[in-house]
Amino acid sequence: MSASLIDGKAFAAGLRQRASDAAARFTVQTGRPVGLAVVLVGDDPASDLYVRSKARACKEAGLHGVEHRLPVQTSQADLCALVEHLNTDPAVDGILVQLPLPPHIDEAAVLAVVSPEKDVDGFHVVNAGRLATGASGFVPCTPLGCLMLLKDRLGPLAGLDAVVVGRSNIVGKPMAQLLLAEHCTVTVAHSRTGDLAAVLRRADIVVVAIGRPQAIPGDWLKPGATVIDVGINRLQPDAEGRNRLVGDVDFASAVAVAGAITPVPGGVGPMTIAVLLCNTLQAAHQRANLPLPNLA
Ligand code: NDP
Repeated sequence: MSASLIDGKAFAAGLRQRASDAAARFTVQTGRPVGLAVVLVGDDPASDLYVRSKARACKEAGLHGVEHRLPVQTSQADLCALVEHLNTDPAVDGILVQLPLPPHIDEAAVLAVVSPEKDVDGFHVVNAGRLATGASGFVPCTPLGCLMLLKDRLGPLAGLDAVVVGRSNIVGKPMAQLLLAEHCTVTVAHSRTGDLAAVLRRADIVVVAIGRPQAIPGDWLKPGATVIDVGINRLQPDAEGRNRLVGDVDFASAVAVAGAITPVPGGVGPMTIAVLLCNTLQAAHQRANLPLPNLA
């Protein structure tokens, strides 16, 4: 068997187009653009790249993106004061604090200051609680993007066996909650899981978010499984000096066993920013008491 590829890049392009159309309608209806504030502390190159990509995506979709770049020595109090100011700024619909923050800042304390109604990353405990209890709120962008790809590929997911490998607050745990809400039978595996291969061989759906390059080989998968590889790992440059990005799944062996699989790059990665635009539109419509656009 050779798995079909799940083209996250193409799906994300469609999502971004629909977000762009909805943003234009919002501006006509309210007389102002949808606003997203992105806060970056320090000069970590990867975070800088993410923030630039987010700002570019906002611009292309007709959102008003504002970057707040703060020096690495910014105090937690000053950062919280900026977030509080953004909470009350009527032009700002969504607030995103780029992680990781420098070690002297308590991330959880800063995320707790973001208004849950502007928390388009879905990291506030109020939104985590809403997801866990089935109430509507903001869902973290990466797992929501994974769910969109799965539903697009498989249709209704009810009754399927799903294994999520990884239990972080930003990917693994919300992914498991989303699959549970779709009536999957969900197992969450992690670094202490005893026999991961045996757990995975039962799964119709496998979502891997562990940050370990090519750690999941194809012979751990059930034939025909749908595999979503969230991992983004940069390997040493190859003999020709080219940088190589790989996922957490060993693509070469997995593609021979799975029914469908996301490539890295071009799978989950492009979905994250597209869903961020959707979440920001959701925030803007809620704040303006307008019906939510159907973007998925
Ligand atoms: P974290 O480091 O926060 O969490 C990793 C999780 O994987 C932990 O729960 C850990 O278990 C588990 N784990 C680690 N090693 C193993 C192993 N060998 N077997 C089973 N479980 C293991 O990572 P994130 O969730 O933030 O990110 C995971 C990956 O996804 C990274 O590659 C990251 O770059 C990528 N990512 C991609 C995004 C995108 O836009 N496509 C967005 C966000 C992340 P334990 O809890 O026991 O320590």
